[in-house]
Amino acid sequence: MRVVMKFGGASVKDGRSIRHCAKLVKKYSNNEVVVVVSAMAGVTDSLTNIAKKCYTEQSTGFIKMFVAELAKKHYDAVRDAVDEPFRARVLEHIDRLIDELEKVLLGISYLGELTKRSEDYILSFGERLSAPIFSSALLSLGIDSLAMTGGEAGIITNSNFGRAKPLKKACELIKSRITPLIKIRGCIPVVTGYIGVNEEGNITTLGRGGSDLTATLIASAIDADEVWLWKEVDGVMTADPKIVPEAKLIPKISYQEAMELAHFGAKILHPRALEPLLEKKIPVRIKNTFNPDAPGTVIMDIKESKDGIVKALSLIEKVAVVNVSGAGFDFAEVMAEVFKRFAEENVNVIMISQSSSELNLSMVIDRSDLGRAMKTLTNVDNWNGNVKVSKLDDVAVVSAVGAGMVGTPGVAGKIFSTLGEEGINIIMISQSCSEYNISFTVSKKDGRRAVKILHDVFQLSDVPSKKEQIVN
Ligand code: ASP
Ligand code: MG
Repeated sequence: MRVVMKFGGASVKDGRSIRHCAKLVKKYSNNEVVVVVSAMAGVTDSLTNIAKKCYTEQSTGFIKMFVAELAKKHYDAVRDAVDEPFRARVLEHIDRLIDELEKVLLGISYLGELTKRSEDYILSFGERLSAPIFSSALLSLGIDSLAMTGGEAGIITNSNFGRAKPLKKACELIKSRITPLIKIRGCIPVVTGYIGVNEEGNITTLGRGGSDLTATLIASAIDADEVWLWKEVDGVMTADPKIVPEAKLIPKISYQEAMELAHFGAKILHPRALEPLLEKKIPVRIKNTFNPDAPGTVIMDIKESKDGIVKALSLIEKVAVVNVSGAGFDFAEVMAEVFKRFAEENVNVIMISQSSSELNLSMVIDRSDLGRAMKTLTNVDNWNGNVKVSKLDDVAVVSAVGAGMVGTPGVAGKIFSTLGEEGINIIMISQSCSEYNISFTVSKKDGRRAVKILHDVFQLSDVPSKKEQIVN
């Protein structure tokens, strides 16, 4: 079997965990395995923060402290994950990277400028530091291994720094670089997740959580049999257990359902991660690093999953609504202008709802994009002040997902009448004609309560046979 195994940040949070993950890989090493690894937990966040601090603060003293701490975290990991004689080489590699990072941070600080390109470069250090440690942990267990950056593995992307998209030709390149390693040399490559390289050779990132996408891209390119995403949770749940403690594991879910859930905020995987697998129908297993024998969730090509009408609920809290309204305009023209500008500004649109009797277009976007979205829409000259742009920034989006909703009458009715009885006001509603998903926007204070109520109403904690009767 040929498997791509991705280990998330929480799975490689320290040296002991990395060693544990390496042992898991060893257990399956009679297969052809490629490992993709995230940055150690918290590292990408800390790099994001330090990059911002470098260009906002006058002094540079904090940079030394930051790199010293980061170096220590990785030295400690080497101590616990890597044995002699492999330590010296990986420590040397870490030192080189830390030196490089310090120089870049000082550069940002002196210039007082942080471009998207330099931000991606800084963010790449998380995975560039973790991959060699993981690879050396494998060597310590007697497994031949090689650490590679995304670029070295062939992940060529466009230049959309921060959310770069892999180019078509990446596929062939990945295949030509990875296949000989696993097939002929019999080694386990450890590839940095999340990062690629553009055609000019600059490092790019695939968007937060992008290591999942690295894994699925590689899997598709090398025709893997499966992708295993090792996380710190047992699998896909009916809702976030932090919101609904009685949430249940979903053993099997379709690509479409999983994509809807990921798009609408369930933190199971990167929203675009399944795209590379659809054509070849490569299944994904979500497995728990710290409970490896649990069955996990399989995401695969199942057309109809009739076990339940609503299968899972998700919630996104860091969102805002932008509303465009006015009269006497060609609706299509205004829509075209709005989306052209959002595309230029890289604004992530999560949900849309529209009424065209009078122009009224509402869009849910990431809250972090709100400033740019409002600025670009209030600058449109030919609207001459006749189009009004307003915002709501204390909202949340709830989604109910399930292939069983297709063609089942009464699901929307049930959702909205229940929430109405509970005094929860619905601001926006959206259901695409695929019917896999009903999403709606509520005030932020009502988001979690709405998820709890619906989880209860659709009996998502119960056995499947009981759920079938709910709507009918
Ligand atoms: N390290 C990156 C992040 O935290 C990518 C990943 O973990 O998938 O977003
Ligand atoms: Mg991470």
